[in-house]
Amino acid sequence: MTKLSRGYPALRSVFIVGSSFCGSTVIGNVLNSHPQIFHAGEADRLSLFGRYQGVDAAYLLDSCALCGLEEHKHCPVWGNLPAAPATPQEAVALYGALMARAGKDMALDGSKNVDWLAYLHDHGLRNTKAILLSRNPLAFAKSHQDATGAPIWQGVETWRNIYSHTLRALIARQIPFIAMRHADLATNPDGFYGRILEFAGVEGAVDRDHYFNFETHALGGNVSAFLRYKGFDAGRYEARETREGRALGPTEIEEKQARQKRGTWQDTLWMETIPDGEAGAALNMPGMSDIMSLLGYSAYDLFMAKQKWRLTHAPGTLVRDGIKFLRRNLPGA
Ligand SMILES: [Zn+2]
Repeated sequence: MTKLSRGYPALRSVFIVGSSFCGSTVIGNVLNSHPQIFHAGEADRLSLFGRYQGVDAAYLLDSCALCGLEEHKHCPVWGNLPAAPATPQEAVALYGALMARAGKDMALDGSKNVDWLAYLHDHGLRNTKAILLSRNPLAFAKSHQDATGAPIWQGVETWRNIYSHTLRALIARQIPFIAMRHADLATNPDGFYGRILEFAGVEGAVDRDHYFNFETHALGGNVSAFLRYKGFDAGRYEARETREGRALGPTEIEEKQARQKRGTWQDTLWMETIPDGEAGAALNMPGMSDIMSLLGYSAYDLFMAKQKWRLTHAPGTLVRDGIKFLRRNLPGA
């Protein structure tokens, strides 16, 4: 392998950056089916790098999502981990060496954490690009609410802060990036993956219908993205998560499995559950329209999509709200 002048392997890397709940794990696993791409998953969570030491112990990992299910199973990528690096430069060198273990030309880091990319970049990592991946702010806020209990406006504010920070961090460092919307995956999956491969500079295609037949050693991520792999065992998964302090809902795996059997996942939960007024108030927060427009969203389009969904699935609620509106606003009505 050729070396750069500073001694780091000339491995190319692409980072998925953005927020949680943006579908990065399954997208990463699909990209992993490409012969040149290794999906590393949430590499910032490796205990070795110490990023979450003393912050959140449940966030730390030492093995990939599948090998880690079997005690004493050797993971060919994350097994035999060396001692923690003493300096940031050592961390960068180690990062490159670990990524190279997968034996592919390009590493895909699904940490989503732009500060992790910035840290590696600022200490010498080169040959990097970023995929700025997002779901619309209301869809994010709904997932954020389900996970944390926070109100919708707070999720939307979090979305705004994460994406504004991520954009500034990338632009300030002149790291090449492409902004991708998760919703485009549902309407044009071939186009979605085609754009990413073109941006990454690799030929060929992914096998998105059989991605789970390809060996994976991704760290962390959403468990839904691993359910269809041969090495996945729900019982072992639950036991490990409980043992390592990541609590699961009692029927979490069953629900996810059932959802996958039902077929294509549509991102509509936010349309069903967030009241119009709450959605409107959240999107009107200062700075929202700027960040939304930079990432390819508009409040008007989201609102219209929501009404269209109601027209098809819950027309009664539209009529009810329409009558309320007329009562309030028509003179003499
Ligand atoms: Zn593994």
